[in-house]
Amino acid sequence: MTETSTLRVTEKFLSIQGESTHAGRLCYFIRLSGCNLRCRYCDTLYAQSFTSGSEETITSLVAGARASGVNLVEITGGEPLAQGPAAAQLCRELLAAGFEVLVETNGSADIGILPPGTIRILDCKTPSSGEAEQMNFDNYEQLTPRDEIKFVLSNRQDYDYARDIIRRYRLEEKTPHLIFSPVWPALPPRQLAAWLIADRPPVRMQLQLHKYIWGPEQQGV
Ligand code: SF4
Repeated sequence: MTETSTLRVTEKFLSIQGESTHAGRLCYFIRLSGCNLRCRYCDTLYAQSFTSGSEETITSLVAGARASGVNLVEITGGEPLAQGPAAAQLCRELLAAGFEVLVETNGSADIGILPPGTIRILDCKTPSSGEAEQMNFDNYEQLTPRDEIKFVLSNRQDYDYARDIIRRYRLEEKTPHLIFSPVWPALPPRQLAAWLIADRPPVRMQLQLHKYIWGPEQQGV
């Protein structure tokens, strides 16, 4: 694997981080192409295909991040780990260049391929996604307190499932960053807030900031 290795990229852009505990920070996004899952509520359908976008070298991707003028980079998708060791190499090069690196992954692939220092934001797919069976729960043995787990919730069944996963894998002992995010517009934020106030689970609620700023259909933000 060399700096001239390539990755398939759907889009790159500078925006406001809309999710995770880094929400609100300026962030340079690299959206890799292709996903192995087909979640029912997917909001990045245009990145699902492994033939979308174009091939780019790791060198040019790091140069693009440098030109953005911000220090926080998120590699997302699609599913970034579906592109294998080249995605890990991109993280390595970005970390070596001094960036703070987030990887948002759908939770189905082994996060162990990512270099130390990468902040891993794992989805835990819930029943309404149709992909809950695809989760790699072995990943939870590798979590550090800097990593984050995001549960996207459409309804009460998802909510109860997420709480059960947290209990079963003792996730609150592994990371303080457990995020419950309602699907836009299926689960009204007020409803989720009411459940959280009643039950007091060890999570933080999060709304997708970018959808409030630019609207739910906008790409490249
Ligand atoms: S994992 Fe993400 S990109 Fe893949 S289908 Fe699900 S929501 Fe879409």
